[in-house]
Amino acid sequence: MEKVTNVPTAAEDDFPSLVNFAKEHGIGLVVAGPDDAVVNGIAGHFEDAAIPCFAPSKKAAEVEGSKAYSKAFMKKYGIPTASYKAFDNYDDAKAYLESVNCSQIVLKVDGLAAGKGVVLPSNEAEAHEALRSMMVDSKFGSSGQSVVIEELLDGDEISILTFADGTAAFKSLPPGQDHNRIFEGNKGPNTGGMGVYAPLAFVTPDDLRIIDQDIIKPTLDGLRAEGIAPAMRISHILTLLTGRLFAGMLFTGVMMTSKGPKVLEYNARFGDPETQTMMMLLAPECDLAAVLMACSTKKLQTVADKISVRPGFACNVVVAAGGYPESYRKGDGISLGECPLGLFTSGFLNRSALTLYLGIEIFHAGTERTANGELVTSGGRVLSVAAHGATLEQAVSLAYEGVKHIQFKDKTYRKDIAAR
Ligand code: ATP
Repeated sequence: MEKVTNVPTAAEDDFPSLVNFAKEHGIGLVVAGPDDAVVNGIAGHFEDAAIPCFAPSKKAAEVEGSKAYSKAFMKKYGIPTASYKAFDNYDDAKAYLESVNCSQIVLKVDGLAAGKGVVLPSNEAEAHEALRSMMVDSKFGSSGQSVVIEELLDGDEISILTFADGTAAFKSLPPGQDHNRIFEGNKGPNTGGMGVYAPLAFVTPDDLRIIDQDIIKPTLDGLRAEGIAPAMRISHILTLLTGRLFAGMLFTGVMMTSKGPKVLEYNARFGDPETQTMMMLLAPECDLAAVLMACSTKKLQTVADKISVRPGFACNVVVAAGGYPESYRKGDGISLGECPLGLFTSGFLNRSALTLYLGIEIFHAGTERTANGELVTSGGRVLSVAAHGATLEQAVSLAYEGVKHIQFKDKTYRKDIAAR
């Protein structure tokens, strides 16, 4: 395996400097991770420099960047989702709240909010308080200037990750299920996600066919057609040139309701913590770099049948800093303790040793190395431990075995990932 290096470089939103860095170092493929980089149009900067970049264009990424846009888009293309109203005026939104049952609605800020801009109120007072904090107190800054108020959906929530290249080709991975709340039993505040397992026994092949046909295909087709008046859609070429064609990873959050699957949200990038689980499910012979390159150069068709998953199950457990998702400390030393094979040394994460040890993988998120080389916490969701197993039970118990070895002060994690 090639060595992976963190490079201290320009701020992640300083796209021109990132392009220069890529040019100087002969980078052949850029994979954009953070939501704001994708939504703020990193793809266009690399496209101008003729460097393949696995991320949709700024226009296509608006399906993630603006909930008002994504809801209007779904309505326009008949994609099943919760009914909704969008507001950019507080008084109108407040009057609307007064006309509905506030325990049956969901409030969402329009823009990005690190997974915290969604409130499911249980009563009128909570709904009004949430609306005020979004639109009057500007808790989420400009993201809350507009809000979407939508119907509360009931069902099981699943995540679908789909490779797309901007043409009609796409390929979805098996469905996964995140565990959004911080505490066991899905209690407590929402987080960015505390753990995922896949595939899901309760999602049938028929469900998946319906999701691809009624949600994923019309989403990608709709995005290609966006921005073009119907009379102008005279050729496929014109559509490719001027639509919001989506090349990259389309992440679709879906609620499996009694009336069928409905879209909760789109993300325009690899989702966390779903991706870690999916990486464990990909067949070893599947060349991910080749797939990402093919998506970035409109050649998905050439590799689509090579995107294969291995049999069995995968599970990923997030290890977070105590206090997350509210305030938490940073800078605590991380150690892996001792393992039965004696492969772990304190404070040193060695991928090959971990791979040898039962095949678990540790994915870093909120970690950094200090000047003296110590690994410390630097975020809320610190890292996650993923494993593959022939059975779901095996995958889950391997992941928790890995979690046991990770030590830092006040570490917290959910003990019921996949317990359902
Ligand atoms: P993230 O990108 O971190 O998943 P987000 O801010 O984009 O979050 P959503 O995914 O739209 O927000 O909503 C966050 C969570 O709120 C969902 O994962 C789901 O659990 C719940 N939720 C959102 N909309 C609805 C709805 N209409 N009915 C029921 N639950 C909902």
